Amino acid sequence: MGGWGSGRPGRRDVIERRLRLDVRVFRRNGWLVAGRAGTLYWSGYGEQTASVRFTTHGDAVVLEYTTKDENGQAVPVQIDVPIRRLPCRFGGHRHYWKCPRCVRWCEVLAADLSCRGWACRQCLRLRYACQGLAPAVRVQQRAHRMFERLGGNADYVMKPRWMRWRTFNRLVAQAQDFDAMADKLFAVDCMNRFGMLPDDLAEWVVKPRGR
Ligand SMILES: [Zn+2]
Repeated sequence: MGGWGSGRPGRRDVIERRLRLDVRVFRRNGWLVAGRAGTLYWSGYGEQTASVRFTTHGDAVVLEYTTKDENGQAVPVQIDVPIRRLPCRFGGHRHYWKCPRCVRWCEVLAADLSCRGWACRQCLRLRYACQGLAPAVRVQQRAHRMFERLGGNADYVMKPRWMRWRTFNRLVAQAQDFDAMADKLFAVDCMNRFGMLPDDLAEWVVKPRGR
């Protein structure tokens, strides 16, 4: 068992500490136009720590760079990151990366610890250090905490022995309200960002390419 400060294995890292690729930065700089290529540099403590070459094709950005394995041997890496332009609800478009590891479309990808792979923050279990979480996630977490206090989750709760039934029922109803609200907020967020509801989106993003 780890003691205080020994570092829990499930502890989330902070996305700002990782190498990140923000699709909005690519868009602002015109790097999403097919044929564009360049090299991105990251620095820390005044020193250059990493560089990644990118080439933009029609619907993907190819990343190429060299990293080192555990023995210090150079490992060449090449990763294709699909890009998609999706309409916003109130006009205009937004660009998204396709996370190389899951079905999500996201604006920020981060390098994993080995720097050999890139993924969305859900895949890498990262959180944003300074930026507040999306409302849906905050409400979901609140519901989750409430259910946890009731010794269960959205499907299952157990009344603590010391708690009165009236209190218990009220707390369960509250937690369920938060859970329902989180679902609604998430649906609104999906509509704003992708112009479709979460269920449609899930079906849409996992549709096989070649069909
Ligand atoms: Zn992902």
